[in-house]
Amino acid sequence: MSLKRIIKKCLSISLFAALLYFLVGVVTTLWYRAMNPLKRLTQDSKKLYLTFDDGMNPVYTPMLLDLLKKTDVKASFFILASTAKSNPKLLQRMIEEGHQVGLHSFKHNNQILQFPHQLKLDFEKSMRIFDERKIEIKYFRPPWGHVRPLGLCLCKAYGLRIVLWNVIVQDWEGRTTAKILCDKLRKKVRGNSVICLHDGRGKNKAPLKTIEALSIMIPKWKEEGYAFETVDNLYKKNIK
Ligand SMILES: [Zn+2]
Repeated sequence: MSLKRIIKKCLSISLFAALLYFLVGVVTTLWYRAMNPLKRLTQDSKKLYLTFDDGMNPVYTPMLLDLLKKTDVKASFFILASTAKSNPKLLQRMIEEGHQVGLHSFKHNNQILQFPHQLKLDFEKSMRIFDERKIEIKYFRPPWGHVRPLGLCLCKAYGLRIVLWNVIVQDWEGRTTAKILCDKLRKKVRGNSVICLHDGRGKNKAPLKTIEALSIMIPKWKEEGYAFETVDNLYKKNIK
């Protein structure tokens, strides 16, 4: 066989292996989402669970914490471990004010596209940051809700439960407004909603619109008799 043919064959095998690796991640994600226990929660509850991804952000996260404090609401933050390193005081504030802190990967990498050694390192680096600060992390939300088998194994090894969501309103979109978000939240939120919102990343200062929408919706939900809890309360009581 000529060298050219050998190289061509090697390339096709590598391409096939990469495609297969990618597909395993896609299939695992679809399966995991279909099994999401939050989809099976009944709506006959007056509890809501606000969850925030992609922080901490040095500008938006303090503004959000101020709003939650003012309205006496406890929430769950799935933070990027890299931001815990650069904003230790903000993390401390979050914990002191009674919020649940979970992990959202080190720097928002997509598990489906990560090689095994990268994924392993992602968890190792992230968990070390929390360990050093003696912060117990029990919950993990994968970026984009994407998982692969190794990610599931690593969660198990680190004692992390994966938390997805049952309400999402695309609050990261650049063209969204507080009004659009309020309309979507009014339409979608029911008892036992685990609402996925964002206090970091997003386009056109998107977290500002999230905060504005919440400043309108939280008092309304309270008027309707809803109470807010962290995901820890939900998982301890309702999900095996
Ligand atoms: Zn995210």
